[in-house]
Amino acid sequence: MDATPQAPSAPAAAAISLVKVRKEYADGTVAVTELSLDVPAGELVVLIGPSGCGKSTVLRMVNRLIEPTAGRIELDGEDVTRTDPVALRRRIGYVIQHVGLFPHQTVRTNVGTVPRLLGWPRRRIAERVTQLLELVGLEPGRFGDRYPHELSGGQRQRVGVARALAADPVVLLMDEPFSAVDPIVRARLQEEFLRLQRTVRKTIILVTHDLDEAVRLGDRVAVLSEGGHLEQYAPPAQLLAEPASDFVREFVGADRGIRRLSVTPVAAAPLTPGAPEPDLPAVPADATLYDALAAMLTANVDRVAVRGAQPATLTRDALFAGLAAEHAGHAGTASGRGTASGRGTASERGTASAKGMASGS
Ligand code: ADP
Repeated sequence: MDATPQAPSAPAAAAISLVKVRKEYADGTVAVTELSLDVPAGELVVLIGPSGCGKSTVLRMVNRLIEPTAGRIELDGEDVTRTDPVALRRRIGYVIQHVGLFPHQTVRTNVGTVPRLLGWPRRRIAERVTQLLELVGLEPGRFGDRYPHELSGGQRQRVGVARALAADPVVLLMDEPFSAVDPIVRARLQEEFLRLQRTVRKTIILVTHDLDEAVRLGDRVAVLSEGGHLEQYAPPAQLLAEPASDFVREFVGADRGIRRLSVTPVAAAPLTPGAPEPDLPAVPADATLYDALAAMLTANVDRVAVRGAQPATLTRDALFAGLAAEHAGHAGTASGRGTASGRGTASERGTASAKGMASGS
């Protein structure tokens, strides 16, 4: 007889607080000197920094695959550094670069791993697995009975995400989740993942070394330097507009101005209302300035139509004016747009070109 499942009223997402967390490995290496970081519930925070700065160590301390030497880690105010690590890990989904699917188990069995460990009734597991496969864009009837080697890299990654979400964890930890797939599949997975996150609203900490990925996915980005030193913790647009130190300025690169296009919505620019001229290239109302400039350059024109409830035109001059205004908006502020409640609109997050979930990659 199956055991009773977890209470369905468990919270969907938990705030994470790292309080003066330190990790010194047995050989004396201080991977993280003393890090404090608050991740609000339902936000996606990206940890980025040069190789060896302590990103993975921080991530693994949260689910206690690595035990901190000092400090506290709290989930919704509860210190989890002294609770049972196995029980803790069942509340935390974990996605890694090479997915780590069990090779001799089908997709369904892989996805159902944690619910099985939790003793959910069989039928509830089956229903949950079907629901999750649909959520990540894998047709259950087509993919459920396959083995991992019968999937593409992108499909395996989706199974990994579905498995991590299976028991509705309060936190999702992702360590370079998209870096094992080629750039085209990666971009598609990132878009899909953002859409998924809008549905499930987990608290997510994601480690990457890819700045484009960080600004595309993160509600906030934490830039770390050696020893897990926090150089800046800010929404992507603010990070690019106002690097807080020389280290961050160098890290985000001389092309940070161009990158800002992809985190600034078309709506930030002064649009000309009214029906656009026919034959202009068009972008959706939730597009970014990057999408708009790309459309102008591709068609070799100096304006684009903005589709939506209120049709408008965006000129090249207005585009640059919008970028400058966004910059001014960030200058001198401690918290740029979107910091308080976190999540920006789809366009702020550069997702305008998101396509429907495809199972083909
Ligand atoms: P990142 O993820 O940013 O590349 P890591 O967290 O993997 O960095 O590593 C941070 C530092 O800790 C590095 O100097 C690394 O060599 C060191 N380190 C990682 N794991 C161990 C370990 N098990 N023993 C000793 N040093 C380690």
